[in-house]
Amino acid sequence: MVTNIKSRIRRDDEVVVIAGRDKGARGKVIRVIAADGRVLVNKINMIKRHTRQSQDSAGGIIEKEAPIAISNVQYFCSNCDAGVRLGAKQLEDGRKVRTCRKCGEVLDR
Ligand SMILES: [Zn+2]
Repeated sequence: MVTNIKSRIRRDDEVVVIAGRDKGARGKVIRVIAADGRVLVNKINMIKRHTRQSQDSAGGIIEKEAPIAISNVQYFCSNCDAGVRLGAKQLEDGRKVRTCRKCGEVLDR
């Protein structure tokens, strides 16, 4: 389980995939499944699901995201235009924020 702020990816973060089938792809985090150390990322790791015909849908094949390991994604820093590791910093008001370890940009507003 990932509890360290340095590696913490959050919902709505933009991440880049660094390993596996979707390596190099970017997307927004839809959900963090902390207990599994996994994340759901928009349009990443799409799987096909067969659904049965019902009153609500025509049935057939739908595509949806499957969770991927947090260790397979990196935070995407728009400043660096690359996946980066996260640092942490305490602001003067006491808030802890995440920073880009490459350019030092504060990522949390
Ligand atoms: Zn950066």
